[in-house]
Amino acid sequence: MIKGVAKVSTKILLQIYQSIVLSTLEYASSVWQTCETNITDKLNKIQRKGLAICLNVTPTSSVETLEVVSGILPIHLRREEIATRTLAKINSYDISIPIKQILDDWKTIDIPEKYVSPVGKMILQAEDMKVCTGVDVNGIEAEFQFNGIQRYKSPPDYWKNLGNSKSRSTDQKNVGKHIIMEKLSHLPANSCIAFTDGSCLGSPGPVGAGAVIFPSNNQPQIEISKAVSKKGSILLGELIAIKLVVDHFLISENRQNTDSITLFSDSQTSIGILTLNWKSENYIKVIREIKKNMKVLKMNGIPLNFEWTPGHADIQGNDIADSLAKKGAKEAEKIEEPSEVTRQDIKRAARESVLRKWQNQWESSQRGRNYYNYHQKVCQKIPKDLPSKWSFSITTSLRTGYCDLNDYKSKIIPSSDKNCSCGEPETVEHYLLHCSNYEEARERMRTSIYFITGNIHMDLDTLLGIDEEDINRDNRNEILCHLENYLTESGRFKNTIQQKTL
Ligand SMILES: [Zn+2]
Repeated sequence: MIKGVAKVSTKILLQIYQSIVLSTLEYASSVWQTCETNITDKLNKIQRKGLAICLNVTPTSSVETLEVVSGILPIHLRREEIATRTLAKINSYDISIPIKQILDDWKTIDIPEKYVSPVGKMILQAEDMKVCTGVDVNGIEAEFQFNGIQRYKSPPDYWKNLGNSKSRSTDQKNVGKHIIMEKLSHLPANSCIAFTDGSCLGSPGPVGAGAVIFPSNNQPQIEISKAVSKKGSILLGELIAIKLVVDHFLISENRQNTDSITLFSDSQTSIGILTLNWKSENYIKVIREIKKNMKVLKMNGIPLNFEWTPGHADIQGNDIADSLAKKGAKEAEKIEEPSEVTRQDIKRAARESVLRKWQNQWESSQRGRNYYNYHQKVCQKIPKDLPSKWSFSITTSLRTGYCDLNDYKSKIIPSSDKNCSCGEPETVEHYLLHCSNYEEARERMRTSIYFITGNIHMDLDTLLGIDEEDINRDNRNEILCHLENYLTESGRFKNTIQQKTL
C-alpha cells in the first residue's frame, strides 16, 4: 500500500482522503458533535496520520500544521460548517415536520442546558456565522414541497445548437436570429410578445430585471426595469423579469385584446424550471409565485408560452430587455433591506465563518510555529507537488522543522548527536544557508536565484516562502526548482524515508 501511495501525487491522495476517510469521520456529525472531547480527539489522530501519509512527511508534525499545509479544514470546524448548514436546512422545512417543531420550541425557551444539546450547539454555531457574515439561518427561504413526482422534460434541440452568449459564433448568431424571426412571424393574432432579461453585477452581486412588452393592439411598447436585490445571482434576475411580465398581465386592463402571451427569455434554466420541471434549490418562493400566477392567467383564458432566445444575438427585444436589466442592477446597488437567504448564501457564509475561525486558531496556536513563519494565511487549497513530490515533501519538512536533520533528530532521540559533520549544530538554517560541506551547490543556487529575483541576499524566506504574502511569489516555482537541485546535489536527504519510498 505505502509503496503504491508514494507514486501518487499529493493532490490526488488528499482528494482520496477527503472522499473516503473524511466523509466517514463526518458522518451524522451534527448529532454527535457534543460528545466528549476525548472521543473527538481520536478523530484528530486519524486526521494527523492520514494527512502525514498524503503529504509524505513525518506524523510527529502537529495536526494543526498538517491541516494548513494540505489546505484541509480542521475536523471540528468542518463539523461546525456541516451543522450550520443542517440547521439552515431544518429551518427551511415545513412546520409540520417534527424536527422543525422541536427547533422552533428551542428558540423560545431559554435554559442553559439547551446549549449542551446538539440542536443548542448548532444554534450557537449559526449565531457565530451571523456575527461573522451577517447571514442568518432563520432568514432562509422555505423548501420546495413536492406534490408527487414530476417528470423531467427535455428541451427543444435548437437550445443546444446555438452556443452560449460568450462563445456564440456569427453563424450561430444568424441562425438564432432567423429562428426567432420565424417564431415571431408565426404568432397567432392578438398575441402579446414580451422579452425578459436579468443582470447581475458580480456573483453574487446586485441583481436587476428588465422586460419589454409589445402589446397586440399596436399600442406603444411597455418597458419595465426593476432593482431586485443587492445580493443575488443572475437566475434570480431572470426569474423576476419573467414575474414582471406575468404580473403585468394579472391586471385585467393590461390584457384587453389579448388572447395569448409569448415570452422570450434568454435563460434556459428559468424556462426549464418553469415549464420542463427542472429542479431548483434556490428562489423557491419566486418560482412558486410565477407558477401560481401563470395558472391564474390560464384560467382567464390567456395561455403564456415560453420561448428561448439566444442572448446577445442582435435580437431587438432581447437587447432592450438586457439594457433595462442592467439599469435595474445598477440601482440595486443602493438597496438597503436584507434579501431572502438562499442555500447558496448559507453555504458561502458557513464556509467564510469557519475559515475565519481557522485563521484565528492558526494565529494563536502554540504549535507549528516554524511552519507558521512561512505560511500564515490558511486557505482551502490543495497543494501541488512542485517541482516534484519528493522535493515538496522535503521542503515541507524543512518548513515545519520536523525533518531529517541532526538537530531535530537529537530532540527525538536524546542520545543522538545534534551536530553536522562539519561540527556545527545541524539546523535547517545551517543546512540551507551556512554549512561548509555544500558551499559549491549553495553558490550555484544563490547565483540562479539572483538571476531570477535580482536579489543577492538569500535567506530562509527566499528559499521556503509559501504564503500569499511571499515577496518572491511570482518566482516561487523557479526558486523551488533551484532548491530541489540543492537538495539533490547536497545528497543530504538520500537516505530519508521520503526518498526511499519513491
Ligand atoms: Zn554543516
